[in-house]
Amino acid sequence: MTQKHTQKRIAIIGAGLGGLCLAQGLKKNGIDCTIFEKDPALNTRTQGYRIRVNEPGRNALQECLPSHLYNLFMETCAASYPGMNVVTTTLESSKNELVESWSDGIKEIPDLKPNRLTLREILLQGLQKQISFGKELASWKELENNEIELHFTDETTYTADLVIAADGVHSKIGAQHCKDQKVNTGNITIYGRTFYSPEAQKAVSSQLQKGTSVIVGNQFSLITDAMVFDFSKKDSSWDLLSPISNYFYWAFIGNPKAFDLLPADFYTHSGEDIAHLITQLTKGWHPQLTALFEYADRKSLSITPIRSSLPKEPWKSGNITALGDAVHTMSPAGGVGANTAFIDAALLTANILSNNDISVAVSDYESKMRFYSNRAIEISLQGGEILHGTYEKK
Ligand SMILES: Cc1cc2nc3c(=O)[nH]c(=O)nc-3n(C[C@H](O)[C@H](O)[C@H](O)COP(=O)(O)OP(=O)(O)OC[C@H]3O[C@@H](n4cnc5c(N)ncnc54)[C@H](O)[C@@H]3O)c2cc1C
Repeated sequence: MTQKHTQKRIAIIGAGLGGLCLAQGLKKNGIDCTIFEKDPALNTRTQGYRIRVNEPGRNALQECLPSHLYNLFMETCAASYPGMNVVTTTLESSKNELVESWSDGIKEIPDLKPNRLTLREILLQGLQKQISFGKELASWKELENNEIELHFTDETTYTADLVIAADGVHSKIGAQHCKDQKVNTGNITIYGRTFYSPEAQKAVSSQLQKGTSVIVGNQFSLITDAMVFDFSKKDSSWDLLSPISNYFYWAFIGNPKAFDLLPADFYTHSGEDIAHLITQLTKGWHPQLTALFEYADRKSLSITPIRSSLPKEPWKSGNITALGDAVHTMSPAGGVGANTAFIDAALLTANILSNNDISVAVSDYESKMRFYSNRAIEISLQGGEILHGTYEKK
């Protein structure tokens, strides 16, 4: 690292998983940055409940986090096991080809399963003074002296030497500067969680109470994950985090028609509406499976359309770049979107450290990132094909 880098004004737009991971990587190496997040606080919105972290994602987190936070991350993950149960809607064993990136059975180290908010809270530790909440990027201007002027919706501005957009799927910098084109795949995900109350634990099949299970239906699939934490590891470092308790995470992924939904319906559904859709879809399923939805936390139910970036061509590199969903959105069917954001963060950190010239660091990052993210997008789309199948309503 050169003295020059420590004096550079680095702005990260978005305090999501990728932006915070990058900020941690920079901080670990003595480089300052400022993070601008549009939400008023970290837990303003619900954003899924568990996240699968694969080996490359875990390595990237280890590179970016100081050891005490990496250890806290490892300790707060739910128990994970190699392999997964593939079952039918009547809970019989089924043989089904699975998504390549999920093939836990052939991996030596099974994917880790952190609670998403917990991971985000860990990524936030030590950065509190560097984050401005309630700052939504509205536009930016490249000045003649190589500076970038950021404009926020509250009419404030900030001048930076390097800008990294980590502002997720609707990123303007991703779309305009990095020419990232995203399309609606036409599929959706419906997800929620069911706490391990004594009633739910009694009613839900014991085979769903350990590890990951997948049910492949008629142009949709259901994935369930038992999120069981090891509270014997709890120490004072857990006090930094919102309390967690055991739960089942479950997510349907598929064609909206399989749920009797029209595309325009997605955003208008309340938790009760979603619960009703699921009841209709799961009629005739094994009661020890439908118990998952009967006991679900209604507030946790969400519907999200699945979007995907198209393969990318190079763009002109400079001192504005992007990472994560901002520049490569992918279907959750692959379970690698956040993992790819962590890899971006680790690579960008390493490049900034090892190059005197920021534009060289960015250009090398972008060419490598385009390559591996194009592959991750493709794997995720293939995963979707396996999970959605061909829709033939009976
Ligand atoms: C149901 C579901 C399950 C998933 N499961 C997995 C999984 O198991 N494993 C996996 O690897 N991936 C998974 N993903 C994908 C993963 O969630 C994303 O790839 C990941 O969150 C991307 O991180 P990010 O930091 O790029 O964006 P985000 O996490 O979306 O963060 C973007 C941040 O930018 C902020 N922001 C947005 N606009 C602005 C603005 N204009 N100005 C300032 N701030 C702004 C947002 O508020 C947010 O905090 C899943 C996705 C879904 C929908």
